Amino acid sequence: MKLNRRDFIKLSSAGTGGALLYKVLGKPATLATAASSAPSIELHKRIGELTTICSYCGVGCSALISVEEGKIINIEGDPDCPINEGSLCPKGKSLYQVANNEQRLTKVLYRAPGLSYWQEASWDWAIDQIASKIKATRDENWIERDGDNSVVNRTEAIASLGSVFPNSEEAYLISKMLRALGLVYIENEARICVSAAVAADIETVGRGPMSNHWIDLANSNCIMVIGGNVAESFPVAFKWVERAMEKGAKLIHVDPRFTRTSAKADLYARVRPGTDLAFVGGIIRHVIDDMQANPGNYNMDYVREYTNASYLVDPAFTGPADTLDGLFSGWDGSKYDKATWAWQPDATQTDNIRKGPTLTDPHCVFQLLKKHFARYTDDKVVEITGTDKTTFQQICHAYAATGKTGEAGAMVFSSSACQHSIGTQTVRAFGILQLLLGNMGVAGGGLNGITGAVNGLGCTLQGLVNHWGPGGGSVRPASSSEQALSAYGKDKARFASILKAWYGNVDHNTSFNYLPKRDGSYDWQSLFKAIDDGAIKGLICWGINPAVSGPNSDGACQSMRKLDWMVVIDLWETETAAVWQLADCNTEVFLLPAATSLEKEGSVCNSGRWNQWRYKAIDPPGEAKSDLWIISKLMSKIRGLYAGQTEKNAEAITKLTWDYGDNPDVHKVAKEMNGYDLTTGKLLSSPGSLKSDGTTSCGNWLWCGMYTEDGNMAERRGTTDPSGIGLFPEWGWAWPLNRRIMYNRASVDLNGKPWDTDYPVISWNGSSWAGDVADGGDAPVNTSGKYPFVMKPEGRGHLFGPGRPDGPLPEHYEPWESPVSNPMSPQQSNPAIASWETVAKGSAAAYPIVATTHRLVEHVGTGAITRRVPWLVELMPEMFVEISRELAAAKGIANGDTVTVASARGTSVIGKAVVTARLKPLQVNGTTVHYISLPWNWGYKGLKIGDSANLLSPRIGDPNTGIPEYRAFLCDIRKA
Ligand code: SF4
Repeated sequence: MKLNRRDFIKLSSAGTGGALLYKVLGKPATLATAASSAPSIELHKRIGELTTICSYCGVGCSALISVEEGKIINIEGDPDCPINEGSLCPKGKSLYQVANNEQRLTKVLYRAPGLSYWQEASWDWAIDQIASKIKATRDENWIERDGDNSVVNRTEAIASLGSVFPNSEEAYLISKMLRALGLVYIENEARICVSAAVAADIETVGRGPMSNHWIDLANSNCIMVIGGNVAESFPVAFKWVERAMEKGAKLIHVDPRFTRTSAKADLYARVRPGTDLAFVGGIIRHVIDDMQANPGNYNMDYVREYTNASYLVDPAFTGPADTLDGLFSGWDGSKYDKATWAWQPDATQTDNIRKGPTLTDPHCVFQLLKKHFARYTDDKVVEITGTDKTTFQQICHAYAATGKTGEAGAMVFSSSACQHSIGTQTVRAFGILQLLLGNMGVAGGGLNGITGAVNGLGCTLQGLVNHWGPGGGSVRPASSSEQALSAYGKDKARFASILKAWYGNVDHNTSFNYLPKRDGSYDWQSLFKAIDDGAIKGLICWGINPAVSGPNSDGACQSMRKLDWMVVIDLWETETAAVWQLADCNTEVFLLPAATSLEKEGSVCNSGRWNQWRYKAIDPPGEAKSDLWIISKLMSKIRGLYAGQTEKNAEAITKLTWDYGDNPDVHKVAKEMNGYDLTTGKLLSSPGSLKSDGTTSCGNWLWCGMYTEDGNMAERRGTTDPSGIGLFPEWGWAWPLNRRIMYNRASVDLNGKPWDTDYPVISWNGSSWAGDVADGGDAPVNTSGKYPFVMKPEGRGHLFGPGRPDGPLPEHYEPWESPVSNPMSPQQSNPAIASWETVAKGSAAAYPIVATTHRLVEHVGTGAITRRVPWLVELMPEMFVEISRELAAAKGIANGDTVTVASARGTSVIGKAVVTARLKPLQVNGTTVHYISLPWNWGYKGLKIGDSANLLSPRIGDPNTGIPEYRAFLCDIRKA
């Protein structure tokens, strides 16, 4: 028998555990699958290997790293990881080139005000300087009380941006430090990437992330990728789409560009950028019509019982279908008064909501939905989107078929569905469709908004967006009703436990007011306006590159040059760190050399909520340090500066638990996040054990259960799948509670019997649930009376969503800049649109071409990392502009020509023309609409440089989250 290296370590495993020996020797599969674990990390270490999780996208592929003499000599996919099964895309495969890279920063660099060069500095000097600047800026700009005399304890003069790349433990410590300092301008890339999905999903089903997980796509009967390009942006995950297709599933792709995902699809629909909502609105109309004609083809029990379809809305409510003006009732010219978006009360019901179970009352949600979407006819969809009518109708039929009990359809989308001024309502439409089809909670279904970065979820949910503390939802406005911890209702135990983790022996009712309260808008675009206005003096950027990633990026750079000081923690001299090099400014800049994921240890959370542990393979180069080390050192220095001070809320800093030492132990931080029973000193096992009386500590309730007395669950490498549907409950750990499919109590009927007995997620045996961890844990509805969408007050999914500022139902509006009049109504763009743009919008006369943006297999985000990786740069070397053959002919542009693209923002972008059939002009409402597409991964630093597409995009946002409208704006193009 010939053994390769993989076989060897499996045999080694058999020497201690036994079972895998059968697999290697070719014994029957049933014996092989008796093995419960992949080779342990100790066995890998014995042959000079470590495991890591790829540091790029939200798939979270596991990889094996071989190290010799302190250098990485090989990287390959981890064959035991059930997510990637040994595969890596070009980015993962070339990961070692991030570590072994001559462009890495190895020293602290300092740019003094006005000077035109960097100076090398020591860590001690830089930490001293930065700590002093933070203290001085904070103290000079301290706000103790607001105009209502409420205690707010915050500073608005320092901002923090980033990130989505550190380990969760690092993000947790960043958040802990920033909140203790009283910062409120705290944002990361999630705001500008997929925040609209979070707002929409919370409104519709209660939680923001991907409801299912990557492997589960294989259980689907039909997958609709809309506003995303899985094959290129999440290449390894596409295997699960293909696995479903091998079993007969259909793949639908809806996108302005014919991509590799389209090439694999059974049905591809081309749509105009910014019109996904109208497309899905048309499918919703088809489904509702078909439900009436063929109710047996749908799970009407699911619709009636698990959604708010039967709820009766105030008879005074009107929508665009009533008034034809594109507005809902309550519009006052600048915002909605939502008084009429309310339920009719019924004191005889436990939830005080009047219902119409037959779904025929004209004021019930189902009828309102029907009336609203009746306007999205096939012809209207074609008129708005420019799509092909026959294909659209085929898609309606194919996807509606997933409404049958026992069938499942998955909706998969990413930032391109979200980055619009109607991004939240677009994703709301996706959610409404999934609820109508009974696709939430079931295997192969779900509302799957995927995150572009490896730890987007893990970082954001530590509190790296302004309105969320760790675990989400604990940073509150400064209203007088929230001046005491006692006002926090069901969140009180969670918040009290954070306070105990952060302030130890201090009474949690006292430490409650140590933390800052918000009072306004602190999102990304507001943050840059505050920099521009001079209100923010100092900015800390953790592995983030807003000089490339922000809308109107030249405007963002001009704003940053007004800062007094800036700290950039990164692997490289990024465009952000070098913002002073292109124009005079006096900004003082500290550039701190950071470690890559291969040079430190910790957990990351993939898009499907699976937390996996990655191990340190090598030391960082030169004097580069991990974020954990930098944060620990910096906060220790700041705490020293505040020793003995009492004013300016100094106790928030001096009494903060901060004993991580010179070389912080990441396991200690992970345990702090998990939390302790303070009466026994034992690690907690689940968030259900959190108490509001100060006897438990827990830094992040969502992570409670990851590091228990049984060990670090994120390190687990168990490969059994008792469910048979790919849940792999012993591989890593998924929040919350190791649940793999959220809302899974909607996968069963009112008695707990799975709707789909072939793919059961959970089932009730009369006294307990079998299968996945049941969502909410309650017994079936007929036993407990508890409905499955546990994060919604009534437990039912929201078809009608009264919580959004721009309408309770999704309505199509044109992008802020558009060449056509809204075919739907006289209301041209989202009436509640958010704008920070100082430049007038471009007219279709001056800028007749629609621009959209896209991502590439070879690059991630702003390209700050990937533009330094030789293999990736060789594969995708330069900035380019995709242009249709028709537009190229009209403009006299040939493939390979250098072209200039200009927008009303005043800065143009130069790139190579790629004349391609991937794009085609569309007929929209009698107008020919030409569009181009630009990758947004370039900047002026790195092995190959190019213009950032965001030089062209406007500072316009969705009113729900402020996510910029990156994906549809106007431009013009010419041969350079
Ligand atoms: Fe996997 Fe994404 Fe890394 Fe590629 S970039 S190897 S798909 S995690």
